[in-house]
Amino acid sequence: MRQQAIFNTNAPNKSTRIIDGECSGILNWNDIRMPHMYKLYKVLLLNHWIADEIPMAKDAQQFARLDPEEQRTFKINIGLLAVLDSMQTMFVGDVKRYFTDSSLEAIAAIIGQQEVVHNQSYSYVLSSIVSDKEQREIFEYWKHDAVLLERNTFISAIYQKFRDEPSPQTFFEALVADLILEGIFFYSTFAFFYNLARDQKMMGTSQMISYIQRDENQHCYFFAEVFKQLLVDFPELDTQANRDYVYATIDRAVELETNWARYTLANVRGIDLGELSDYIRYIANRRLRMMGLPNLYEGVDVNCMPWIKPFSDDALNATKTDFFEGKSRNYGKVGGDNGFDDL
Ligand code: ZN
Ligand code: ZN
Repeated sequence: MRQQAIFNTNAPNKSTRIIDGECSGILNWNDIRMPHMYKLYKVLLLNHWIADEIPMAKDAQQFARLDPEEQRTFKINIGLLAVLDSMQTMFVGDVKRYFTDSSLEAIAAIIGQQEVVHNQSYSYVLSSIVSDKEQREIFEYWKHDAVLLERNTFISAIYQKFRDEPSPQTFFEALVADLILEGIFFYSTFAFFYNLARDQKMMGTSQMISYIQRDENQHCYFFAEVFKQLLVDFPELDTQANRDYVYATIDRAVELETNWARYTLANVRGIDLGELSDYIRYIANRRLRMMGLPNLYEGVDVNCMPWIKPFSDDALNATKTDFFEGKSRNYGKVGGDNGFDDL
């Protein structure tokens, strides 16, 4: 597969295909092949946030008072998120080089930057609540913890294959892995942090998680749109074998995410594992529908955990002024009504 040339005066400005197409390389938002990408670009910019604007003083006091199980779960889940977002930064960089569409390449640049912000936020939270030594230990978990390794290598193997042998087929497979990482693999972790927030615990961390979830929703939307366009541009990829691949891969991901919930959340008060398992299948169905595919799971049409969703800025500012010191955010003009959060 060819990488996009930096300078190509012989190609049209508007791309002919998302990968392996013709594209001059210049970006003109008024002359792009997928016009809805301009709206997404603007939403991504308006969602800009940085970790340092979130006050952590209360979390620092509260962390010491969490029970040992909550502390353990908190640390291992931050450890998981740090690995997922690190992988994601690299993967988005890989994909970016192969887009033969300047608007997709531009959006990948913004998404890559957001993944870096997510990564910084984990270091930021940990530096507020544990010692430097413990922080370094938490960033080692992923190398040794068997359950963590199993779920992470499941994705990294697919990403690595695309890096080593880039082709429309490995790109297809990598997009499925992307939708899993950004759209399924964060969700029992989100449940844990929002469950603490329901008890008014670790609200700074939950605010940060809320911004991350909002970003990940947009990233899922982007990669699902790319996935659908890939099948239009490369109809030869739309085979029964590839459909089977999508369903088998997502089913395995659901199993790994459910195992993770059992492994890290079994003894956390306020979380019902049966309900969470239904929720994971519910969210997997949603990802499939975003990709233009029918549901995989029956009987999970209703969201049984509606509290797993990003806080809106209005709600944060109206009800949590004690936690957030009445600070209004300057960037986020786009709230829950932007049409993407519900995807
Ligand atoms: Zn991220
Ligand atoms: Zn992401």
